[in-house]
Amino acid sequence: MKVLVVGNGGREHALAWKLLQSKKVEQVICTPGNGGTAMMPGCQNYPFAVDDFQGIKDCALANDVSLVVVGPEVPLALGITDFLQVHNLKVFGPTQTGAQLEASKSWAKALMQEAGIPTAASAVFTHTLMDAAIAYVREQGVPIVIKADGLAAGKGVTVAQTIAEAEAAIAEAFGGAFGSAGECVVIEEFLPGQEASVLALTDGKTVVPLLPAQDHKQVGEGDTGPNTGGMGAYTPTPIVTPALQERIQQEVLEPTIKAFRDRGIDYCGVIYAGLMIAPNGDLKVLEFNCRFGDPETQAILPLLETPLEDLMLACVEKRLAQMLPIQWKPGAAGCVVMASAGYPGSYEKGKPIAGLDKAADTGAIAFHAGTKLSSEGEIVTDGGRVLGITAIGSNFDEALANAYQAVDCIEFEGAYCRRDIGYRVKNI
Ligand code: ATP
Repeated sequence: MKVLVVGNGGREHALAWKLLQSKKVEQVICTPGNGGTAMMPGCQNYPFAVDDFQGIKDCALANDVSLVVVGPEVPLALGITDFLQVHNLKVFGPTQTGAQLEASKSWAKALMQEAGIPTAASAVFTHTLMDAAIAYVREQGVPIVIKADGLAAGKGVTVAQTIAEAEAAIAEAFGGAFGSAGECVVIEEFLPGQEASVLALTDGKTVVPLLPAQDHKQVGEGDTGPNTGGMGAYTPTPIVTPALQERIQQEVLEPTIKAFRDRGIDYCGVIYAGLMIAPNGDLKVLEFNCRFGDPETQAILPLLETPLEDLMLACVEKRLAQMLPIQWKPGAAGCVVMASAGYPGSYEKGKPIAGLDKAADTGAIAFHAGTKLSSEGEIVTDGGRVLGITAIGSNFDEALANAYQAVDCIEFEGAYCRRDIGYRVKNI
């Protein structure tokens, strides 16, 4: 079978790589893909942007693909699934209505409140209610979290330590910094604790978690400095104990798909719960995403034994229950992101990347994110997060040592990575 993967990040390279592990998958098409998917045997890029639904549809039909997998949230929020389904394509990813789980934080909050899913106390204000929003912040005190309602590429959230910072964040959102995504804000109680990501597959009836992961959002070692798309990830994180996993199933995942059913939403794809685990073990949902996480997916998929296309088709065909339990390799996986100098601020592109072959010889996998194949046939940098170097091992120390061994083989001008990925799970 042929599978089309929409997107161009490390997550999409990892999805394409995993799909091609199966003998049943003869080809993966990526739209638009990146340098890594361009070079991977069995994979072919077509230059359709993720919001070029017509181009993607024509490409899928012309190539007779059996499944379309949508990586990023933007096309899902714009309704790519609805569009492709009209043309009888099988799509792994929710419809536009279901994608509101990520595309509108106020919609997700309302769903959580109605379904009794544990989450931070919050209030929602539209831009006409600036004074009320500021009064609420003053009444609640700090720290407090201000979130633009819509998709803002990870930049719409401010954890404010002072009232002035909170007011500035509200003014920024209402002033148009995030376009229509900031016309409404969710103001939320600050939750202390450790974050974990639980990505679950669902066909709308059955919901089954993948291995629990943690990522490092901040650019600096020791989790300091500005937030990024993620500087590394590891799985299965021991912070999600079997008992906690059971609570996540009963208190978060099952109520979420029930809430979808109650609303008449036929949800197929990934439900990604971003969780805060308090020092006392309390569990609350920080956010939901409607797609695979990046870089978590890069760490999770190398440990997956069950063929990914079987799981995805089972979701689309509403027979996920028959596929359980999902089979996993033992051990641990870690992903270290190599970024361009300056990221998450401005950075240069087009730097030649050396040492990928040497890195591959270590047994690690270099998932490409911001790379492209230049007209001279050379892999060059093309984004902030450039590569996700991923390795597995019998424990976290081994997996991360393997990943860093491969990192040390790779060079490009300005390359930067955190040297402490997985520090919370060292010696486990
Ligand atoms: P991303 O694209 O990174 O997923 P997002 O824009 O969807 O981000 P959230 O995940 O809701 O936004 O928040 C971003 C980060 O802000 C979280 O990963 C967490 O570190 C912090 N954060 C969000 N809400 C809270 C909260 N209530 N208490 C403490 N920290 C929070």
